[in-house]
Amino acid sequence: MHKLSRPAPPASWHDCLKALREAEPVKKGRSESKRWGVFRNEHRSTYDETVDALAACQHGLCAYCEIKVSRINRQIEHIQPKKNSTPENDFTFTFSNFAMCCNGGTVSYCKDDGAFSNDPDKKTNISCGAKKGDKEPCLNPYTLPEYSLFRAQADTTNELLSFSVDEDACAKATIPAELAKGTITNLNLNCPRLSRARYGVWVTINKEIDEISEDPDLSEDEKDEEFKSLIKKHLSPDIQFYTTALLCICYQLPDLAPQN
Ligand SMILES: [Zn+2]
Repeated sequence: MHKLSRPAPPASWHDCLKALREAEPVKKGRSESKRWGVFRNEHRSTYDETVDALAACQHGLCAYCEIKVSRINRQIEHIQPKKNSTPENDFTFTFSNFAMCCNGGTVSYCKDDGAFSNDPDKKTNISCGAKKGDKEPCLNPYTLPEYSLFRAQADTTNELLSFSVDEDACAKATIPAELAKGTITNLNLNCPRLSRARYGVWVTINKEIDEISEDPDLSEDEKDEEFKSLIKKHLSPDIQFYTTALLCICYQLPDLAPQN
């Protein structure tokens, strides 16, 4: 999970919002899921334009787990749960409360890029919005700092890379560490499906760094140039598991890593 920039709403959003709020005000006895269903089903072109705007701004990555999301494996996520909506704070239809996220491993025809798990115990691998449901809010990806609030731990025996909370980074960002911990748990970011995929990224980057470090034909300056292009490649904003790449580079190449 890393900082996202805020997209602009699509051109049709404001008229659509006006129509929705008139026809579907927040009211007792009307479930927020049903209100949201009206948007999805009766204003489909604006819905699609909205998710396209979010996807473009997020470079096609899930706001939470950072997998590359395809058109059939994406949804609009409410950072503040819909059910917390009140007439004064309508989170269900607040554009700045939207992010694009994956379907959390629940869609069996999405077998690309680790988006679905064939593990026998599929339930342990459900992540992101599909796992969070209406739980309390997690870290808001729009208000994160540029540096990561997570640390990475590699389990070489089981080939897993798990996240824990970097309490110093949380303190520096004045974000409660408990909120970051709850985010990892509530989104199930350490599920085997994601931890395994992140481990693959971790191993690849470490191997590339080792190859440059150990190349006898390169001078120190040439090595630095190679490291810089490696960083550029792995920290491209459309890279899957961006946070994993960022942490790996911060640990292995602290002098060249982006400013913390
Ligand atoms: Zn995800």
